[in-house]
Amino acid sequence: MNHEQKKGLFSLPLIKEIVNGKEVCWFNKNLESADKGLKRMPLVAADVQEAENRLARFAPYIQKVFPETVTEQGLIESPLKDIPQMQAALSAVVKQKLPGRLLLKCDSHLKIAGSVKARGGIYEVLKHAEDLAIANGLISKAEDYTVFATSKLKMFFQDYEIAVGSTGNLGMSIGIMGAALGFKVTVHMSADAQAWKKELLRSKGVNVIEYAADYSKAVQEGRKLSANDEKSYFIDDENSQSLFLGYAVAAARLNKQLKQCGIEIRKDRPLFVYLPCGVGGAPGGIAFGLKLFYGDNVHVFFAEPTQAPCMLIGCLTGLHEKISVGDLGIDLKTIADGLAVGRPSGFVGKNMINLLSGCYTLTDRHMLDLLHLLAEQEECYIEPSATAGLAGISNITSNIGDKYLLKHGLADHKDKIVHIAWATGGSLVPPEIMQKYCKM
Ligand SMILES: *Cc1c(COP(=O)(O)O)cnc(C)c1O
Repeated sequence: MNHEQKKGLFSLPLIKEIVNGKEVCWFNKNLESADKGLKRMPLVAADVQEAENRLARFAPYIQKVFPETVTEQGLIESPLKDIPQMQAALSAVVKQKLPGRLLLKCDSHLKIAGSVKARGGIYEVLKHAEDLAIANGLISKAEDYTVFATSKLKMFFQDYEIAVGSTGNLGMSIGIMGAALGFKVTVHMSADAQAWKKELLRSKGVNVIEYAADYSKAVQEGRKLSANDEKSYFIDDENSQSLFLGYAVAAARLNKQLKQCGIEIRKDRPLFVYLPCGVGGAPGGIAFGLKLFYGDNVHVFFAEPTQAPCMLIGCLTGLHEKISVGDLGIDLKTIADGLAVGRPSGFVGKNMINLLSGCYTLTDRHMLDLLHLLAEQEECYIEPSATAGLAGISNITSNIGDKYLLKHGLADHKDKIVHIAWATGGSLVPPEIMQKYCKM
């Protein structure tokens, strides 16, 4: 960004608040009908279907290697649950009744990797393994994929490396899955990554390289090193379409769960979804899947820390990956390590700009308060990053969201809205660290 651009930006009232660390709620003026917005995407419903089919082919293998997935027949899926006590407690905080029905999507408790990254990260590793195995005549798509658990395949993958840059959770999903298949895995960890995440990975034989710099730098270095080795495959969180599609699969599964709760999403019973956002891949992919599924009946908001609002500033300025929070003098210091990203994915920002309803931010203090409240009210323990979606219902149904609801014909139907806070991580957090969060 040049000096003139910067000066122009700093004169915008919303940017001033962002720079001053204030919580903001931004409604996207570029939002279009789902039909129009989806037409601009380079990916279509058939791509998501292909990802679903691939995960189904691997389900027998997953079930065999990760017995904790047997009850779900090898599909890695998380519970969806009503959290009425949390909703009541949130109402008490804002001193006004929050109407509608609030649910928690517990990706915090996804099997194998304990975070939303168990969707995209594991999917891309599986896709890469399948591509290699097919190209080398080791398997056909019609075969039983439990063959991936045999020593023949594991020996084959030992020659190949998978590399990734991560603030922690992506590295964990890719490290755990890659190591199980037999790959050499290298994870480039940013300064924000938690020590226990690094230790856990090393215990699985993963090569962890640490950086004193932020996430963007870890990705940049990882990408460079991997490019020098033709047997190395770099999972590119900033640009990967495979990751994105792995996340998008969530929509059809969520729909089944909503039906089990007796909820059918329609025009007069819309769905509002609040997704914690780092670089944008996970919330972007999930949002894309939801838009394909529910069209204009789903409204998607991304949630970011006040100290790492990268997608917000990228979308708001239209500069996407050309702007970083550092350009605005924001320091990226946040307890939400999973969201500590300074520069957004250009792929996600540019493609989601017409489908996203808005972004909001919250302070570390606010995230910790939500963490405490959820633990007390619902006995559910999630990591700080994962709490960001819980601020959505208050933002939308207390007065801040009124204009948006009015515009979409929902101002008088607040009680009909179904809200989903997407909890994105936490079940692998060691108990002593969770206790520490609970006391902060
Ligand atoms: C990675 C992560 C996110 C956000 O995903 P991005 O693809 O980085 O936007 C949200 N919550 C948690 C806990 C995460 O680890």
